[in-house]
This record gives sequence, C-alpha cells and structure tokens, in this order.
Amino acid sequence: MTTPIPPAPARDKLLFTPGPLTTSLSVKQAMLHDAGSWHFEFSQLIRTLREQILALAELPAGGGWETVLMQGSGTFGVESVIGSVIPPAGKLLVLINGAYGERIAQMAGALKIPHVALRFPEHEPPSIPAVSQALAADPSIRHVAAVHCETTTGILNPLAGIGREVKRHGCVFIVDAISSFGAIPIDLESAGIDFLVSSANKCLEGVPGFSFIIARRERLLETEGWARSLSLDLLGQWQGFQKNGQFRYTPPTHSLLAFAQALAELNQEGGIPARGERYRANHSLLLNGMRAMGFHPFLSPEWQSFIITAFHFPAQPAFRFPEFYRLLSEAGLIIYPGKLTQVDTFRIGTIGRLFPADIRQLLMAIRETLGELGCPAPVLSPAAL
Ligand SMILES: *Cc1c(COP(=O)(O)O)cnc(C)c1O
Repeated sequence: MTTPIPPAPARDKLLFTPGPLTTSLSVKQAMLHDAGSWHFEFSQLIRTLREQILALAELPAGGGWETVLMQGSGTFGVESVIGSVIPPAGKLLVLINGAYGERIAQMAGALKIPHVALRFPEHEPPSIPAVSQALAADPSIRHVAAVHCETTTGILNPLAGIGREVKRHGCVFIVDAISSFGAIPIDLESAGIDFLVSSANKCLEGVPGFSFIIARRERLLETEGWARSLSLDLLGQWQGFQKNGQFRYTPPTHSLLAFAQALAELNQEGGIPARGERYRANHSLLLNGMRAMGFHPFLSPEWQSFIITAFHFPAQPAFRFPEFYRLLSEAGLIIYPGKLTQVDTFRIGTIGRLFPADIRQLLMAIRETLGELGCPAPVLSPAAL
C-alpha cells in the first residue's frame, strides 16, 4: 500500500511574511534538475553567482571584496560571521532594536564571545551618540554588529551613520542586511561595512537554502584560526571556493539553480531600483488601505521601510488574531504574527513575488474577514485601492 500524495492546490498561498517568501513559477521550475556538484558546469555556476552578488552590491570584481556562499538560512550566515571574524580575545558590540539584533547577541552568548548588548526601543533606530559612547567607554570592543532592516517591526536602521561611528573608532562593522539586500541599495564602502550578510530567499526572491556574505578581503584573510565552528568557518568556506570552486560540503544544488533564475529575473525587472519600486508600491498601497480600514501602523513613517509593516491590533474587542489569521489563510493569504515584546501587533510583508494586485486582493480579504469577526470596517474606496 502506498500513501497517496495529496494533490497540490491550484495556486500556492501568497506569503505576506518576512520569509520564506513567494517565488515565481519559473524560479521553482529551475529546480527540476539533479545537478552533480563536481561537474565543471556547476563550479562555473557558483563562480558566476558569486560575481553577480558583488555586482549587485556595485563592488568591482578584484576590488578587495569577496562573496562567500554558506549553506543554511540567513541565520546560519550571520552565525558564520559572528563565529569566525572575532579574534579569541575580541569583544563585540551588538546594536539591538528587535528580535534579529537580539538573535546576534544570543549567538555571541552561545559561542561564548564576550559582548555588550546595546538595546534601544523597538520603535526607534539605534542612537548614534549612544553607539559612540559605548565604543569610547570600552576600547576592548573591536567589532560592531547591526541589523539594517529590523524585520521585527520593519524599521530601517541608519547604516551610514552607525558605520561612521564604527569606523571613527577603528572597529570592524558586521551588518545583517538579510531582509533589505536586493531591494534597498547599500553602499558598503561609504557605510564602512566589512561583512554584510543576506540570503537567497528574501528580496532576491530565490528559494531558501543558503545565505551569502560579502566580505572585505583584507578583513576576511586576517581571521585565520579564529572560527569557532568547522562547518560555519567563513574563511574555510572561502578557501574551499578558491581551491576548487566548490562548497566544502554538499551544496544546496536546487537552491543554487533557483537563485540563478531569480537573479536573471531581478535583472529583467530592472535591478535593485525597480525591485525596490515594486515593493514600495506594494507597501504604500497596503498602508493606505489598512489606514482606511482603521488600522494603525506601529512605526512612525520616518523609520518605516517598505519591507514589512507591523500594525496594532484594532481596538474592537471582537478582534481575535488567531481567527483573523485562519480566515485569511483559508482565502489563500498568509500574514504574520507580531514579534514585539510589549504591544499586540501583527505584520504584513510586502516583499517576495508580490504585486500591487496581490495587495488589493489582501485588502479586500481583510475587510471581508473583519466583517466576519464582527468588527466591520468602512468600504474601501477606489481611491484607497
Ligand atoms: C529573515 C531574517 C533573518 C533570518 O533569516 P532566516 O533565513 O530565517 O534564518 C535574519 N535577520 C533578518 C533581518 C531577517 O529578516
């Protein structure tokens, strides 16, 4: 007896989340191959992808920058950097205004790396004077880690301002740009970034399976012998690519094939500026429609990115999030719970293979769902859509 496999739904649910994200059909189809990793074509693919990532960051090949691909989701990439680039006697400053900054401090804890966690309110970016003060107060801190778009709230942290302080104190700057790279231009040179981490399945719209690190070569090469892990050894991984063009251990072959297609589609769309524009259109449509239905965003507009938006629960006592979530899910639309520590919020992501038409569909479904829950919202005027 074989167990029948349930039929796939005609269309996957749309993911209005911080990841995993909706991808195009052609990106999924690119995975329908069993690529042998030792094949020369595959080494060529890896080389091309590493070069394309540098080009996306507008860094010239051979200009002192390297790309390292790392198996695992974005978190593995961040942990690879944290565990590899801080010397045995080093100390790390972690800037925290949400769950992903908190995760970096957790990594430092797990890896027994001395660190200072500098916490800021979740609705505000890190204060630059506070960063400066922390660095001045403890000269043993030589490394600083920050999150670019803190996906907990969608807040966009000011990399250039933080980076200036980090460099003024001669420190190494590590940036988690997992949710922003590919949609928001990042000038690594001017922001003083030494290690930037992102992943295949956020704004680049590939499928999950690996992360990548853009590293200043000089900073990377000095880390020999510092890694606290074998499989997440950043320099070791880079040396593997240099030696034979290969991942050291089984590569995420399907995910790499999908990524090549995803980069081609990014290019067709018009690169990072065009992708950013699509996400911005998604976000502003969402915000207008949600406001028209009486929802309030958690962040003030000056810090809000177009990546993901946190909304307060509506004031109506009849609103129950689990029911709201379930009804939307039944309509094929997946939103995301909040991750804030103090207030009740839920989140709606506007990245991935989503278009304004998808946002309109979501807004209409939210209005209908509110009615079913007994918290009716005003009819959405064409102007709000
Ligand atoms: C998604 C995300 C991560 C974690 O990535 P995973 O792929 O879930 O491991 C880390 N940092 C930020 C800012 C993110 O948005």
